[in-house]
Amino acid sequence: MVLDVKYPTIDNLACEEKVVFLRADLNVGLDESGQIRDDSRIRAILPTIQDLQKKRAKLVIASHLGRPAGKPNPKFSLLPVARRLAELLHVEVIKPDDCVGFEIKKLIAELRDKNIILLENLRFHHREEQNHDVFARQLAQYMDVYVTDAFGSLHREHASTVGMVRYFKQRAIGRLVEKEIAVLSRLLTEPQKPFVVVMGGAKISDKIGVIENLLNTASHILIGGGMAYTFLMAQGVDVGASLVEPNKIKLAQKILQRARFKSVPVHLPVDHVIVPDISHGAPQKIVSNNDNWSNQKGVDIGPQTVREFSDVLKQAQTVFWNGPLGVCEIEDFRKGTYAIAGAIAQLNAFTVVGGGDSVSAVRKSGVAENISHLSTGGGASLKFLERSVLPGLKALL
Ligand code: AMP
Repeated sequence: MVLDVKYPTIDNLACEEKVVFLRADLNVGLDESGQIRDDSRIRAILPTIQDLQKKRAKLVIASHLGRPAGKPNPKFSLLPVARRLAELLHVEVIKPDDCVGFEIKKLIAELRDKNIILLENLRFHHREEQNHDVFARQLAQYMDVYVTDAFGSLHREHASTVGMVRYFKQRAIGRLVEKEIAVLSRLLTEPQKPFVVVMGGAKISDKIGVIENLLNTASHILIGGGMAYTFLMAQGVDVGASLVEPNKIKLAQKILQRARFKSVPVHLPVDHVIVPDISHGAPQKIVSNNDNWSNQKGVDIGPQTVREFSDVLKQAQTVFWNGPLGVCEIEDFRKGTYAIAGAIAQLNAFTVVGGGDSVSAVRKSGVAENISHLSTGGGASLKFLERSVLPGLKALL
């Protein structure tokens, strides 16, 4: 369903001297002093901006940043993003104090050369997340063409991603969304085999749809992180006080059954780093599935699991990885996640990594260059691989 659709691209647009509203996902992490920690989301939309500039469009870019809870808050201003964008593009980037209103009209009229307007944070208005029609119309008011390159937001039904789209005749996806769709579609249709799927993270509920769907194309599924404990419990392993979703145990059993039926091996961790209390690094212990966990919590995959997972990965021609294999926020518990990042990066294969923690593990361990595609949208990539229709894409049709 999703895959058969051809979405309109920038190539189809007639946008010379037209005002193009470009919805981007510039939700970058900022440090305490307001400096951008990682500008990859800004860099990711440069090809779209440059192509629209070549077509002599007047560009107005919009994004959300953080969770300002529907009120203006200087902590969540897009000003640092505007500065970075200006440095990267060598143009003037004008950032008004708001994302709607008469001032925007004036600024558009004054826009010269390749200069750009970057609107202030969309989420300074609570109507953005409510997908309120009044706000959608305000956003669309002075614009001629709608382009979305906000891959990470396409699964959200907001005014800027869905509501305003109906007010445009000319609509298109940007280069980043084009690329994400092409890469993820390849995983759903013709992945070169063996195709190894690595799933981690906290909750089984977010990933179950993807696992079910990828059983159709995957050769092996490796499961780690918090979600592994529900699967282990489904197999009768005593996982101590680890994170478990008791109401998902039946579902985990069903998935394991279906995987057996489809002859797709599901590999679960065989050893674990356990601690009495998750908020402290030490003391920690390694246990196997048959050991007594003394009611402690599993916080990382153990060294034997790293070896076994790496062995399966060695054969892979295609890899998709989403979600950390341990509590990666704490240094002592991120060894497994980093080791798997390293194992994937060593492969001579088509490798795709999605999700904030896994992408950040890849970057922090310095192997990003060796990954074929780092998806800019964790939630959106999972929804896509589940074959759910992304509201932001459906709105374009
Ligand atoms: P997700 O957003 O579902 O990819 O989950 C990411 C979160 O999973 C991170 O905050 C990790 O701390 C958490 N996580 C990974 N492994 C475990 C674990 N063994 N126990 C509890 N939380 C975990």
